[in-house]
Amino acid sequence: MGSKRPFLTGSQAERIAKDYPTPFHIYDEAGIRRTARELNAAFSWNPGFKEYFAVKATPNPVILKILREEGCGADCSSETELTLSKAVGFHGHEIMFSSNETPEREFAHANALGAIINLDDVTLIDRLEKACGGMPETVCCRYNPGGEFEIGNFIMDHPKDAKYGMTRPQLTEAFLRLKKAGVRHFGLHAFLASNTLTDAYYPVLAGILFRTAAELKEETGIGVSFINLSGGVGVDYRPEDRPNDIRAIGQGVREAFEQILVPAGLGGTALFTELGRYMLAGNGALVTRAVAEKHIYKEYIGVDACACDLMRPAMYGAYHHITVLGKEDEPCGRVYDVVGGLCENNDKFAIDRPLPAIDRGDLLYIHDTGAHGHSMGYNYNGKLRSAELLLCEDGSVRLIRRAETPADYFATLDVTGYRFE
Ligand SMILES: *Cc1c(COP(=O)(O)O)cnc(C)c1O
Repeated sequence: MGSKRPFLTGSQAERIAKDYPTPFHIYDEAGIRRTARELNAAFSWNPGFKEYFAVKATPNPVILKILREEGCGADCSSETELTLSKAVGFHGHEIMFSSNETPEREFAHANALGAIINLDDVTLIDRLEKACGGMPETVCCRYNPGGEFEIGNFIMDHPKDAKYGMTRPQLTEAFLRLKKAGVRHFGLHAFLASNTLTDAYYPVLAGILFRTAAELKEETGIGVSFINLSGGVGVDYRPEDRPNDIRAIGQGVREAFEQILVPAGLGGTALFTELGRYMLAGNGALVTRAVAEKHIYKEYIGVDACACDLMRPAMYGAYHHITVLGKEDEPCGRVYDVVGGLCENNDKFAIDRPLPAIDRGDLLYIHDTGAHGHSMGYNYNGKLRSAELLLCEDGSVRLIRRAETPADYFATLDVTGYRFE
């Protein structure tokens, strides 16, 4: 069914499962490098282009290092993400710090690394200056245009309900105040829709940001050095989804750039992206084994993974395609709910899903879990988070995060006076 193919074969997955028991997340190094190269090629017309990978999507140093080798920076939003990125070797303007409600300590930490600070609000200006012992030379401002974000007549999202960014008048105020306080290089950022599946998203967003940058130059005399299109380019989670065409997206942004920024005298502006999902989702999978079946009012297949390994279906009702490994070409003659073992009835990887007949012991490949997958994991019901593996370009498999053990679960408790055996 559909055209979604796993990057692992059944026999390959069985071999891996001998060394690393299921469930595990596995990432495809070759796919990650290919995705990064395609993105960089699509924006190669812009000499300053840089992708800042959204670390929260897949916060693993081995993955971050691969992306750094492909020319990417790191987009962080917390102190630990900064620490992780620094450990991987990111420094200076290779790091973007896009946080909100930012404590002084985190501004100071980001500034000490030389990161570009993306300011979420006008009320943070004084805090930033105080935290850094003076204003950084480069600051980016996050814009929230409010209202609805539409493409054509289709409402993509509701910026007016989003907690992020500054209003249009606040943006002008922030630019003027920051300039007075010593900022010399300015950036502009907005994130208006998530997981978009239209090649028009970036070009329409770029149009808004480019026009705003041109207006700000008129109003304040300040020309931005860079514009950050942020994240939001989506992936084809469903087999019927049309994948985004990153070349067409790059071309669409180029047209807006030439129509708006070049005539405004801003043709030297660098473009940045902060993609997470687009870079990693399809290059990761959750492999889990069918361990139980149940026939009551519906047909259930129980697997050894649960929502603690992949929260998106439980949290957003998100669709993740499932392939039964070794049965790729068998007809989908059964309809199952594929469930984990949590005491929560939303712990379902699939509901009423047509699949081939599943036997206990079959390996299920849950697609597109490479971003916002393992990283959203949690420990409800005392479940332990799974391992992360890397399928290396040479075909070997590397453990890049071990599975949690009970000792990890107990590590933060005050265990004085108790014995856990
Ligand atoms: C989450 C996030 C991203 C990445 O979003 P994707 O949908 O994974 O592309 C980028 N920038 C910021 C500020 C974010 O919060």
